Amino acid sequence: MVRVVVVGAGYGGLRAVEHLVKDSNIEIVLFDENPYHYLQTEAYGYIAGRFNINDLAVDLNSWCLGFGVKVKFIHAKVNTVDYEKQEVYFQQEKLFYDYLIIAVGAKTNFFSFIQGLKENAYGVKSLKEAYSFRQKFESMIYQKLSYQEQQERNIVIAGAGLSGVEIAAEMAYILQLYAKTIGSRTQEIKIYLVDASETILPGMSRYLIKNTHQRLSELEVNVLTNSFITKVDSKHLYFKDTGSLSYSFMIFTGGISGAELIEHISGEKNKLNQLIVDNKLNIKGYTNVYAIGDCVQLHDKHLNILAPTAQTAEKSAEYVVECIQQRMRGKACKLFDEKISGVFVALGGKYGVGEIFGFIKVKGYGAFLLKKAITYAYLLGLHLRINIDFKNRIKK
Ligand SMILES: Cc1cc2nc3c(=O)[nH]c(=O)nc-3n(C[C@H](O)[C@H](O)[C@H](O)COP(=O)(O)OP(=O)(O)OC[C@H]3O[C@@H](n4cnc5c(N)ncnc54)[C@H](O)[C@@H]3O)c2cc1C
Repeated sequence: MVRVVVVGAGYGGLRAVEHLVKDSNIEIVLFDENPYHYLQTEAYGYIAGRFNINDLAVDLNSWCLGFGVKVKFIHAKVNTVDYEKQEVYFQQEKLFYDYLIIAVGAKTNFFSFIQGLKENAYGVKSLKEAYSFRQKFESMIYQKLSYQEQQERNIVIAGAGLSGVEIAAEMAYILQLYAKTIGSRTQEIKIYLVDASETILPGMSRYLIKNTHQRLSELEVNVLTNSFITKVDSKHLYFKDTGSLSYSFMIFTGGISGAELIEHISGEKNKLNQLIVDNKLNIKGYTNVYAIGDCVQLHDKHLNILAPTAQTAEKSAEYVVECIQQRMRGKACKLFDEKISGVFVALGGKYGVGEIFGFIKVKGYGAFLLKKAITYAYLLGLHLRINIDFKNRIKK
C-alpha cells in the first residue's frame, strides 16, 4: 500500500482526497489544524447573515469516515516536514509518507508598510474571523432597530478584489432590504470599499469591472479607489492624500501570503511566502512532494501566474493526483497547464455577474443562479459523502 499524506483540508486538499480514493493501492492521511472544512467562497453571505454556519462548514472527521477505512483524518497542525526522511511532524509525533501533497492555503497579508494594520484589522481567511464580523454586523443592525445611539456607522472593507467586493455588496444589500422591515435607520450604516488600485477587481475584465461598479453604486456602496491607506488605528484609517475615515469595524481583504507552514519548510519561495514549484508542481529535487492551491505560485505553461482561487486549487489537486498515479505506474506525467475557466461574482441578493471562457458574459439573476448552482453542487457532494457515514452509524 502506498501512503499519500495530504496537509490541509481546503478546496485543494479535499479534491485531492476525492481523486486519490479511486485508486485501491493508495491509503490516505489528511491533516488539518481545524476540525472542519471552511468554504471561504461563501463567507460573504455568512457575514451578512444570509447564510448559516451549515452553508459554509463541514465536519472533516464525518466527511472522511464517509470513505471508510481508506481515509484517515488527523486533526492537528503540521509543524514541519523532512523531505529526506519523508516524514511530517505534528504535535509530538511524526508520520512517514510515500507521497506528500502540501495544500495549506494562505493567510491574510497584513502589509507591514501600513502602520497599525496588523493590530487593528482582521481578514476573512478563517471561519472564526467571519463569525466575529457576522456578530459585529448584526450588533450594528440591532442597535439601529432598538434606537440605540451609535457612535460610528461606517463599515470599511479594505481591498476591492473578488472577496472584498462580494462582502461589501452583500452587506449593502442586507441594509437596503432591512430598511423596509426594520426601518430606514439601517441605511445610516454606510459601507465603504477601499482600494489603492485605480479600479475595483484589479486584473479582471472590463465587463466584470463595469457591471460590478454599477451594481455597487445601486447598492450605495461608497467605492474609494486610488486610496492608499498609510496608517490604521482602532477608530480611523488614514490615506496618503485625502485625510482619514472613521470606522466601526474593518475587514481587510487586501492580499494574501502563504500559510505559516511554508515558513517552516525548505524550498524556493516568492515574496508572498508562496512556494515556487517546478512545472510538475514538485518541490524542486523531490518528485514525491507536491504543493497545490493558494500556498503555491501557480502558473500556466506560458508562465502566466494564475489567480489564487478555489478553482485553481482544485485543478492543481486533480493534476497532482494524476501525476502520483502515473509515477506509481513508472510513467512520466505531463506538465501542469491549467486556465481559469470562469469567474462569478455574487453582488448582493439574487444578483451576480460572471464570465465563462472569457467570452460568455452573464449578469443579473442568471449569473446568480449559475454561481448558486456551482456552490450547491459542491456542498451537495460534501453532504452526500457525510451521509454515507451517518447512515452507517444509524444502522448500528
Ligand atoms: C471571502 C472570500 C471569497 C472568495 N471567493 C472566491 C470565489 O468566489 N471563487 C473562487 O474560486 N475563489 C474564491 N476565494 C478564494 C478561495 O477561497 C481560495 O483560493 C481557496 O480557498 C484556496 O484553496 P486551498 O485549498 O489552496 O486553501 P484553503 O481553502 O485556504 O485551505 C487550506 C487548509 O489548510 C489548513 N492548514 C493550514 N496550515 C495548516 C497546517 N500547518 N497544518 C494543518 N492544516 C493546515 C487550513 O486550516 C485550511 O483548511 C475566496 C476567498 C475568500 C477569503
